[in-house]
Amino acid sequence: MVMNKRPVADAPIAGFEQFGLAPSIIKGLQEAGFITPSPIQTQAIPVVLAGHDLIAQAQTGTGKTAAFGLGAMSQLDHKGGVEMLVITPTRELASQVADELFRLGKYADIKTVAAYGGQSISRQAELIRRGAQVLVATPGRLLDHLRAKRMGKFAPKIVILDEADEMLDMGFIKDLELIFEFLPKTRQTLLFSATMPPAIQKLAQSILKDPIQIQTSAGSTTSKDIIQRYYVIGEHERTDAVVRLMEFEEPDKSIIFCRTKRETEALCLSLAGLGFGARALHGDMDQNQREASIKAYKKGEFEVLVATDIAARGLDVTGITHVFNYHLPFDTESYIHRIGRTARAGKKGVAITLVNAREYRSLERIKHATGADMQAEEVPTLKNMEQSLDAKLVQSILDQPVRQAAARIIKTLEGQIELEDLAARAVSMLASQAEASGPDQIGMKFAQIQALQEKGGAPSPSKGRKRPFKGKPRRGAARGKRD
Ligand code: ADP
Ligand code: MG
Repeated sequence: MVMNKRPVADAPIAGFEQFGLAPSIIKGLQEAGFITPSPIQTQAIPVVLAGHDLIAQAQTGTGKTAAFGLGAMSQLDHKGGVEMLVITPTRELASQVADELFRLGKYADIKTVAAYGGQSISRQAELIRRGAQVLVATPGRLLDHLRAKRMGKFAPKIVILDEADEMLDMGFIKDLELIFEFLPKTRQTLLFSATMPPAIQKLAQSILKDPIQIQTSAGSTTSKDIIQRYYVIGEHERTDAVVRLMEFEEPDKSIIFCRTKRETEALCLSLAGLGFGARALHGDMDQNQREASIKAYKKGEFEVLVATDIAARGLDVTGITHVFNYHLPFDTESYIHRIGRTARAGKKGVAITLVNAREYRSLERIKHATGADMQAEEVPTLKNMEQSLDAKLVQSILDQPVRQAAARIIKTLEGQIELEDLAARAVSMLASQAEASGPDQIGMKFAQIQALQEKGGAPSPSKGRKRPFKGKPRRGAARGKRD
């Protein structure tokens, strides 16, 4: 992604003023610190302003919210009623999008309401009636409102489906079809998605009119700013591998994706036991707990979020440096969404995936489908860890300015201890603060991975090793041996 970076050619750096957005909107985005439009914004804003329907695909974290929001908000005429409707898959996304639109539309006198489950319907309807121009809603709650008919006049002229692929994944297709029956026939409809599976294209055909198609992620569907690596490990080595890699990489902020709620909780306990600040995020937590966790994570109150796919969908947290796939996700789309939590807004990131030998084939499939450059690596050994810790310690000793207290204390120790012994003890104190632990060797070495690659993966247990039938083990026989 090239957001915030200068264009390569010596063309003039085009800013947001090229589009003819409303001046009040420009003011809002300047205050938000947006300087250069991202590629999806450059392509989408003129189409939105021209009033065309649009189907846009861009990687996560490339600024899709502003890509539809800026042009759409520039066109509101404040003649009463909701003029712009954004439909998003989850509550978290609805409030995130509403916040971003509020920020960008701050000087355009735009009122935004977010409507999702878990809050009073009548209060929401009241807020909407009181003069909101923009409504951001989840499908289920929106349908409730439309059926209850308590929002007053409801004829938005711009309708946006945000993160459309996730809505489909979450089974909202029927709700969406019902919602569109309530919406005015003359409207502008925009569909934004990180991936474009056939089901989305089908949906688009039924709700968009002669849409213009935009795709900014030709070739690879994952950002070039994400370094993608994988490690082949044994099934029982996942936790050891994650811990070792966390200790080696020292991420500022990271997310570890697990498959189940139980896995997130178990891993959190292991990490906390080793001194990491870790918290779980999964679908069984209630809304307040989830929001509290996300808020604390955004504020940097802890460093590792251990999450399931559903709970972390579309999360926009700045400064996530590492995404770990504790398990390979089930499909390519999940992989793209997961690793898209890092390298947002022009930053760089690392995505690390753990696979066992039998999952290698699935990894190849994801690699092929994304067109990503994914490299095999070896998990650092205990020895590698010691060397790296030693090097860091040496560097920090060299960098350490000498304090007054040092001279005083050395004087006190004079005559009691040799200087060399003193140095050894002082360094021991420092070294005890960061000690490598865990098994020496975790996962496969390059040679083994290469053999696996050549074979195209290990056979799954049902197909592979067939043992000759030996008959049922006889209980009596086994017991007899022990007796
Ligand atoms: P997406 O929907 O594509 O995943 P978002 O709309 O959530 O991406 O944007 C990701 C982050 O990038 C947000 O924090 C947003 O404020 C920021 N952002 C968007 N556009 C720009 C821009 N032109 N310059 C700087 N930051 C931007
Ligand atoms: Mg988005």
